[in-house]
Amino acid sequence: MTVLMLLLALGEEYLTKDEAVRLFFKNGERVVEHAIRLDDAARRLVEKAYGSSVAPDQTVIVGTKEDRVVAYAMIVSEITKTLPMTFIVGVDPAGTVIEVAVMRHEEHIGTDCAKRRFLRQFDGKRPTDRLRMGTSYQPVSGATLSCNAVARGTRKVLAIIQHHFLDRPDHVKALLQEEPIRRQRYIMGSICTITAYGDRAAVEKAFDAIQSVDAALSNYRDDSDLARLHRDRSIQAKPELLAFVSGSLAFSERTEGAFDITTGPLVRLWGFHDGKHRVPSDEEIAAALARVGWRKIRVEKDTVTLPEGVELDPGAIGKGIGVDRAAEALKNAGIARALVDFGSSARAIGEWTLGIRDPFDTDRILGHVTLRDESISTSGGYEKFFEQDGRRYAHILNPQTGRPVEGVASVSVITPTATESDALSTAAFVLQRIPDKVEGLLVPEKGEPVVTDGWKRRFREEKK
Ligand code: AMP
Ligand code: MG
Repeated sequence: MTVLMLLLALGEEYLTKDEAVRLFFKNGERVVEHAIRLDDAARRLVEKAYGSSVAPDQTVIVGTKEDRVVAYAMIVSEITKTLPMTFIVGVDPAGTVIEVAVMRHEEHIGTDCAKRRFLRQFDGKRPTDRLRMGTSYQPVSGATLSCNAVARGTRKVLAIIQHHFLDRPDHVKALLQEEPIRRQRYIMGSICTITAYGDRAAVEKAFDAIQSVDAALSNYRDDSDLARLHRDRSIQAKPELLAFVSGSLAFSERTEGAFDITTGPLVRLWGFHDGKHRVPSDEEIAAALARVGWRKIRVEKDTVTLPEGVELDPGAIGKGIGVDRAAEALKNAGIARALVDFGSSARAIGEWTLGIRDPFDTDRILGHVTLRDESISTSGGYEKFFEQDGRRYAHILNPQTGRPVEGVASVSVITPTATESDALSTAAFVLQRIPDKVEGLLVPEKGEPVVTDGWKRRFREEKK
């Protein structure tokens, strides 16, 4: 009796994964498992077809040959009575079911649903067929729940293929590309690398977008809009400058002033602007501090006004803005997978895994973090600093004290956009904690690193 019970509970395996995949793909085809993320619009349509909520992250097996897709397949598990049934649904490039095959059925009843006699009814079905019991297919008597599970899972797969791929030629195009292109440009004093599954022209446009941010915000050139603001003190700002100023003010508000673009005079005083470092006197610091404070900036409609002596420094957010503009340009060109990497800030379109540098030994990495349509920025004391009389002075300044922040080796934060991650990693460095609603890692000079739960989920530590 016990033996029999055990056998029943184990369910039945009909096909291994390899056997299931072999149903749809032939030798010599390029078959890749793609991690996809449904956007909100696609997800809503899939949920409508499926009848309940659907996770945005899905895996689709795609076979390609030369420049066309040969088939899509998804492995799905659906609860029958109380236990799941796992099956594979193969779909042709036009979005029609090739075949549904059951791989595992845990329940000991309803097994007739795993038979070809029943499953054959799904061959050739399209998303518009709706797959309702009694009209689109006849259930096996006594196995209604299992039959229903097959129909439900098949509806989900058809909707995902339709709305994520067939409605989105850019997503299909990305599947066909074997190797991404990788190009670099030197902008804002750093090398920016763009890796993209797409064409070269789109990547060049993305770099141009960063270049136009630099043209607007550079404080190293006389012809930028920022230089004009510093000269004229009150100007009608063009969109880039206006977005920089108002965006920065919002980050100051959110971080209790830890992030503050009016730290310009302090950056200059400590010599971080031109590398002529020195430790200033208390009087000099007090004089510079009198010119610091984000509330001194006035924005009215598109007019920005700075009181005499106030100077803006885009150093903690400019690259993030550039990365976001580049990412927008890539998305507008229909690119579904790309990485814009500006060193201290990066943004992933699709899924990418990046290394996180060890702040105490910058040739090593602490581990890898996986981003999906997210951005990451790192602020590190090791990036720009000087040492005098055995003390180390880092380039991130506390706007309250006018002095370099001490005690933090590096902070990395993950947020949806790179503008946010850039601003908030700098703020976290000053605050010495990860701001609310942000995922991150903070490595103190002494003691144990601090991580958020969301960081842990995305991070894989490097083996020592
Ligand atoms: P990041 O590497 O993004 O953290 O930016 C650091 C740079 O931002 C520095 O090199 C300064 O130019 C500037 N900066 C320093 N302290 C601050 C601060 N508290 N708020 C905003 N910008 C700062
Ligand atoms: Mg920053």
